[in-house]
Amino acid sequence: MKRQTIGYTDDEGRLHRTVVLRKMTGREEAILADRRNQRNGGRLITELLHSCVVRLGELPQNGTGPIAGLYSADRNYLLIKLRSITFGPELSAEYNCPSCGEAMRVTEDLDELPVRALTDGESPEEIKIELEDGYVDRDGQVHTALTLRLPTGQDEEAVAPQTRQNASLGKNALLARCLKSLGDIPRHRLEALGPKILADLTMSDRRLIDRALNQAAPGIDLVRELECPHCGHVFKSSLDLTHFLALE
Ligand SMILES: [Zn+2]
Repeated sequence: MKRQTIGYTDDEGRLHRTVVLRKMTGREEAILADRRNQRNGGRLITELLHSCVVRLGELPQNGTGPIAGLYSADRNYLLIKLRSITFGPELSAEYNCPSCGEAMRVTEDLDELPVRALTDGESPEEIKIELEDGYVDRDGQVHTALTLRLPTGQDEEAVAPQTRQNASLGKNALLARCLKSLGDIPRHRLEALGPKILADLTMSDRRLIDRALNQAAPGIDLVRELECPHCGHVFKSSLDLTHFLALE
């Protein structure tokens, strides 16, 4: 029984946060091996969770709808729990020291990763970011107040083809889907501009957005602080998930 960090709100407005998972079996091995899923990471996660989630809150036997509609933070959390209950919490990860370039092996404990839950008053539908440079519209007006919602599985699945071709363009497409408001640009205009808005932002503003999403967003904190055994350099890196679901 796992408690999600955000949860799923159904059509009637009820929040479901408890999930019962079962271990992965040969059926999920086939899902992992399916080439169509390997081309779309979002879809792979949807298929795996759909298969292994026995119960989602009080909902009757779920379809892929609720799973795809979950926030990415919750999906990643459940995926890590799924790996942990199936193969155990130990994960062998490899990092390269940015200072001396030496490789280091670390055994991560998936059950010990820090989890951040939403606090009262925080909404996954309203992440507010104040841009420094902002977006300049065609009349020369600068818009700096940005509101995003957190991405869901549907967003991941939709932008996967673009991400595969170009990670930066994929990110623009993802953020455009999550864009709720920017200054006083009217809604229809935002929708018409879409990913172009994100492409026009300065790299420092884009970094602000990344930081806000990583820090403010709930879920498992995948940023690890590591110390190089060769030169002693301390650095931060995202958890190496290369062998995450490898069948060894
Ligand atoms: Zn080093």
